[in-house]
Amino acid sequence: MDVKYLIKENQLFIFVDFDSEISKEFFNNAKKKINNLNKEIITFSRKIGFKGKVIKVVIQGVVMMTITLSIDGSSASSELETEEIVKRNKNINININKYFLDSKSDKYGNYMRPKYIVIHNTANSASSYDEIDYLHSSQNNTFTSFHFAVDDEEIWQALPVIVNGWHAGDGKEISSYNRKSIGIEIAKSTNHDDLVKDKAIDNAAKLTAYLINEHNIPLENVVTHNHASGKYCPHDIYDRYGWDNFIKRVSSYL
Ligand SMILES: [Zn+2]
Repeated sequence: MDVKYLIKENQLFIFVDFDSEISKEFFNNAKKKINNLNKEIITFSRKIGFKGKVIKVVIQGVVMMTITLSIDGSSASSELETEEIVKRNKNINININKYFLDSKSDKYGNYMRPKYIVIHNTANSASSYDEIDYLHSSQNNTFTSFHFAVDDEEIWQALPVIVNGWHAGDGKEISSYNRKSIGIEIAKSTNHDDLVKDKAIDNAAKLTAYLINEHNIPLENVVTHNHASGKYCPHDIYDRYGWDNFIKRVSSYL
């Protein structure tokens, strides 16, 4: 059977011949193939060209162990976990806009399996879109990057969640938070209107819950930038909203 794989925008696409029989064996082989590719999967996805019938869409980022395929709407699953994740997240109503950094950029990290979520405040009043836009700017040569920027209105994503960013301030070692965490910047954190800031925090809490579900990240692995490297961040959550309140918010969406 001719099977091709493509990872694009955090989703795994599996292409097989239209008439291919979907069997347990197929799923197991697909799973093995993906596991073997773990380390190269990012580059692999760029090289591959394909023709054929898309049967399905699968995983978000790291959940490479669980595969769901569906043909024309009818789904087959190699592991229930994926369906579980979909079920768990069906009540979290968020829309994630994507504007990914170029994979050749220095701000684009290495393959990772996210185990933590690091929460930041931007410490300015710019919108989430402007934060992401600035990441793309050539004037921004600070080599910092993060996965998501969230404000009271929108969520923007700059990196796939299976690629690390440089936001936690604790270096490049494999053991650093940078290399194992999803970075969320809560934007507009110096806005004069508390309602705007609260709404941004609420959206970030929803996104955090969504990512927890999707990647099986324990709630206690949601940490502050301060926890990761000692920087006084997220300032608005420390100074005003309260870290415990943020965690409570996240829990309310789980
Ligand atoms: Zn920070």
